[in-house]
Amino acid sequence: MGYSTLSHLTCGKQGHDHDADVVAGVCDCGSPLLAQYDLSGLSRDVIAGRPPTLWRYHELLPVRSPENVVTLGEGMTPLLPMRRFGADVGVPRLLMKDEGLIPTGTFKARGAAVGVSRAYELGVRKIAMPTNGNAGSAWATYAARAGMQSLIAMPRSAPKICRTECVAVGAELALVDGLIGDAGAYIRGRLAEGYVDVSTLREPYRIEGKKTMGLEIAEQLGWRVPDVILYPTGGGVGLIGIWKALNELRSLGWIAADRMPRLVAVQAEGCAPIVRAWAKGAPESEAWPDASTVAFGITVPKALGDFLILRAVYETEGCAVAVSDADLLAEQRRVAELEGTFVCPEGAAAFAAVRQLRESGWIASSDEVVVLNTGAGLKYPETIPTP
Ligand SMILES: *Cc1c(COP(=O)(O)O)cnc(C)c1O
Ligand SMILES: [Zn+2]
Repeated sequence: MGYSTLSHLTCGKQGHDHDADVVAGVCDCGSPLLAQYDLSGLSRDVIAGRPPTLWRYHELLPVRSPENVVTLGEGMTPLLPMRRFGADVGVPRLLMKDEGLIPTGTFKARGAAVGVSRAYELGVRKIAMPTNGNAGSAWATYAARAGMQSLIAMPRSAPKICRTECVAVGAELALVDGLIGDAGAYIRGRLAEGYVDVSTLREPYRIEGKKTMGLEIAEQLGWRVPDVILYPTGGGVGLIGIWKALNELRSLGWIAADRMPRLVAVQAEGCAPIVRAWAKGAPESEAWPDASTVAFGITVPKALGDFLILRAVYETEGCAVAVSDADLLAEQRRVAELEGTFVCPEGAAAFAAVRQLRESGWIASSDEVVVLNTGAGLKYPETIPTP
């Protein structure tokens, strides 16, 4: 068996097949491309003895040769019981997957590690991307590790820390007026300089990195899934990735085929296109006007993969919920005070959603619930007023 079992790419909308061994963008039909693997005859027993990084799942990742792996030791983050906070919200079996403990302080490192490694393997040496901040920090960091050049464009309003990280690792940083869409337009105007566009879901491998959160949750629970997983959703790559991972584990027979967690897409009230679409039962979202929330990582007015996020939520009988900035900031404080865990505002939104869904009865007190804390509170010091 090879290091990777990658076979080809298929488009998420109509199933068009594509060659996986050339630099790929989106399908001609506009849909993101998803990596496919030859999943026959692979045993989960080989995993247990491997080092605690996301590369322990290398057969299910797209990098064909271990020499091309660009790593800072990312992955295998803790799955922590949240006993005191769980008691406070009435969900005793509450767990937090803590992505704050990963290079660059957010789970964006997973997508960047795998995306940069695969791009490097395919001969790419210059990458460019628009970002709300955290993805730019992560991709610039891994590009530096690979010896690649990077161009990162972010809204002028993006957090200072993300700018600092990009500059520290030698990226070219462009600040644009407006939102992430405006940063995307800026990047497209510079692709002629030889950059490969690695925007969210415009290249197929970031999602492969993010899916490892799903693989880890299953492995950490003893090859089993929880009842509910809540995920703060912007572009939705993590949610789609977890769904893809669990489906691959089902095909492999590594987890039971008859049980999936209900997947919950959590958004902020100031930018909730997926919640609005889900409430209508729609297959796609509409662009959210004047998007704004303190949880800047989930400020995505119209996600390229919205139809995949919604499909994941519908197929798993999950739901989509919006929380206010006031509620998520209050929950950020409560989680820190009750557990000693300083989570990011996006993660705090997911904790606020647990409270909301327990109060409505959608989450039962007996449910085993996993919240993705997607980043470290340390990256958002301004969210906590101090004397
Ligand atoms: C990017 C980001 C998200 C949203 O991730 P998507 O995969 O784009 O939905 C959530 N939390 C943080 C901290 C982020 O940086
Ligand atoms: Zn297609």
